[in-house]
Amino acid sequence: MKEEPKYQTIHKFDIRSVKDEEKMSSLFYISDSIETNIITDYIAMIAMKIIIAHEIGHLLSGHIEYRKRHGETAISFAMGNTMSQINNTTLQVMEIDADEFSACHIMSVLESELINDQKINKIVFDKNQIYRLVGCALQCVFYLVGIKNNYWKTEEPQNYTHPPASTRVSLFLDVIRKQFGKERDKDWIEIVKGVIIAQKNIFAYYETDYDDAIQFVFDIMGIDEYGKVLIEEWRVLKKEFASYSNLPFI
Ligand SMILES: [Zn+2]
Repeated sequence: MKEEPKYQTIHKFDIRSVKDEEKMSSLFYISDSIETNIITDYIAMIAMKIIIAHEIGHLLSGHIEYRKRHGETAISFAMGNTMSQINNTTLQVMEIDADEFSACHIMSVLESELINDQKINKIVFDKNQIYRLVGCALQCVFYLVGIKNNYWKTEEPQNYTHPPASTRVSLFLDVIRKQFGKERDKDWIEIVKGVIIAQKNIFAYYETDYDDAIQFVFDIMGIDEYGKVLIEEWRVLKKEFASYSNLPFI
């Protein structure tokens, strides 16, 4: 067991130029504690892996070819792109397809790299905390991606090119749970705890009240009704995506 650092000063930096609107990246904290900063580095690294694996998921899962065959000449995966001729549900299905790829990738990284990473093992109290780092990174990616549009949940998800963030986190966690299997539910719970810890800190960071905590836990762990709709549609489209896939094992 490592001792928790007793004194920690957090230095807050604001890198906005005067007229800039507040951006996610414009305010950041650096701690006096080297351990805290290293942990932050790890969360950022895992978050980047989640994002990059998601984009590679689009490339390898046949989405480019699918979109070309459905009349698109210039393809953008940017959020809110309304130029697409493909309906929003199909676009959203591609997002959860890419998220599934990302979830599988991040699980393999977790197993093969993070759990045995000597540097992080020297800092954390036990291995459970490594699972929590993955949860933190996951929530940072999805909540922050949608924070500007207040996009955690929405009444009209079909108006958007991307699924609501709560649906994506819930489905991402479902993929991980399936991968782990029942006997590793304890590890999965640690990842869920990481998601919750990140969310608490995001609210603190933006100096707003912590929203309804029970509802938040239900959002990420309960059955996501809109997610069910997307999964149904995903089952239909997956075969066609797979026929355009570059993945050698499909
Ligand atoms: Zn995407």
